[in-house]
Amino acid sequence: MQFLEFARICEHLEGISGRLEMIEEVATVLPGLDETDLPIFVRFIMGRTFPDWSTRKLGVGPNLLYDAVAYVAGVKRETVVEAVNRTGDVGLAVEELLAKKEQTSFFIQELELLDVYRGFERMAAAEGQRSQREKLRVAEGLFGNARPIEGRYLARLMLEELRIGMGEGNVRDAIARAFGVDVHLVEHAQQVINDLGEVALLARKNPEELSRVRIRPFRPVKMMLAQAGTIADQIAEHGTVAVEYKYDGSRFQFHKVGERCRIYSRKLEDVTESIPDVARHLMEATGHDVILDGEAIAVREGRPMPFQYVIRRFRRKHEIDSMMEQIELVPQVFDILYLDGESLVDRPLSERRRYLEETLHDHVAPQFQTGDPARAEEIYADALNLGHEGVMVKVLDSPYTPGVRGRLWVKVKPGVETLDLAVIGAEWGEGRRAGMFGSFLLAVQDEGGRLLPVGKVATGITDEVLADLYDLFKDRVIARSGKEVTFEPGVVFEVGYSEIQTSPNYESGYALRFPRFVRVRDDKSLDEVETLDSLAERYARQKGQTGSA
Ligand code: ATP
Repeated sequence: MQFLEFARICEHLEGISGRLEMIEEVATVLPGLDETDLPIFVRFIMGRTFPDWSTRKLGVGPNLLYDAVAYVAGVKRETVVEAVNRTGDVGLAVEELLAKKEQTSFFIQELELLDVYRGFERMAAAEGQRSQREKLRVAEGLFGNARPIEGRYLARLMLEELRIGMGEGNVRDAIARAFGVDVHLVEHAQQVINDLGEVALLARKNPEELSRVRIRPFRPVKMMLAQAGTIADQIAEHGTVAVEYKYDGSRFQFHKVGERCRIYSRKLEDVTESIPDVARHLMEATGHDVILDGEAIAVREGRPMPFQYVIRRFRRKHEIDSMMEQIELVPQVFDILYLDGESLVDRPLSERRRYLEETLHDHVAPQFQTGDPARAEEIYADALNLGHEGVMVKVLDSPYTPGVRGRLWVKVKPGVETLDLAVIGAEWGEGRRAGMFGSFLLAVQDEGGRLLPVGKVATGITDEVLADLYDLFKDRVIARSGKEVTFEPGVVFEVGYSEIQTSPNYESGYALRFPRFVRVRDDKSLDEVETLDSLAERYARQKGQTGSA
């Protein structure tokens, strides 16, 4: 497929707002793609470059992109920045600049979808001191051969934000429809192989294979997630349940075959080198080939330390030894997904638990099985006394469902509810906050992954944190207008609030009363931010509680 055709499809989809129509449109394209283009197309249309399980990163920020476009369009960098500020969108700015250049140049080599993918592979492979130069060269090559409309989507793809509203759910439905397979089969296969590109290939070539796909070592799957709930409800519904401490650490997935092991973070980054102590503990605890799920916690003098200490270690790339002396991380393993060549994800939790206890002779997180609400409440009180966040209440006959936030796992913890929101912009501060960002614009996501503003947060941020936040965001600025800046999305804030209100002021249709910054969620990616549906649910629940209209 030519990249031009891909760009035209994106343009068309951008103009459609109905979900079914979008799915139909993509479903008609998929069968016509060859084996090479199909998986690339499927990832690109969601704004992603590589398979979800892959730890490869493109690593292109707005600045590098501006440099490449300036070079190709034959303008100064400031002209690119000015166009981005004016249009408020990198894609549109690039399109405009390439259109001006097109009038003066004659030769363009047709870009294929595959050329763009290969270019991205070269960018991701660039390492070390010269990596920025190499990435820039590739970006210049691609933009140099792009027509204006191709430039729009090439730029957005490089920043991994396509803005056409084709989220994972829509693409999954399109694959099922295109190849006439059950959408649940597509969903199951996707959970296990964690790449819709490969799933699309299987759906076309050999749909029976979709039910036979197996989890594979060194291809991380998304973590299974929990919903908030109560002990009483969970026991009333399921009888005997598994109650575990809810640790306030950082989630990890450990893969081991023979002497080789890797550890992946919740965002599926490879963090093995940052946390060698966790790797060592687990290698010493088993001789089997395994995939384990657990939480790494920081411990000092027998008591767990807050999450901030843990995430600092996960991020660390240098001086790991000295950092390790200050904060030791200990794994608490609560699940096993794979054992000696066999996938365990479809087995019930009770069975997985037995395998886990037989396989790992240390670092197994305690689990209590009870159907007695009073006993479960006791465990909850113990958890809090021990310094943990609360408890997880899990359904004993449940499979492991990667990436799903369902009621098979319920989290119970005290205190106020918070939201995880994408930070999409900011306003410059005043007075003591001058020269820094003073308030941050927050967004939820709709079902297509579009980010919709829901409010601003300025409270709860200490001066020290404010300075850190400036460092975190300064290279993410993609547009400026007066006192406001727009960020390349990617950072997630956990935010407290007193109430959710409906509001015409923000595109989401909602606003937060008294929003309060809690922390940066480095362990979460954009696809994990609060969805519009779930915000609406919270709003409805809140209305039920207060009885107000
Ligand atoms: P929160 O914001 O409440 O920490 P979350 O949004 O990070 O939750 P949830 O899936 O809602 O993620 O809560 C489950 C998280 O709790 C897991 O991702 C994991 O990191 C952590 N956790 C701690 N102890 C356990 C446990 N025993 N079983 C499963 N998850 C646990």
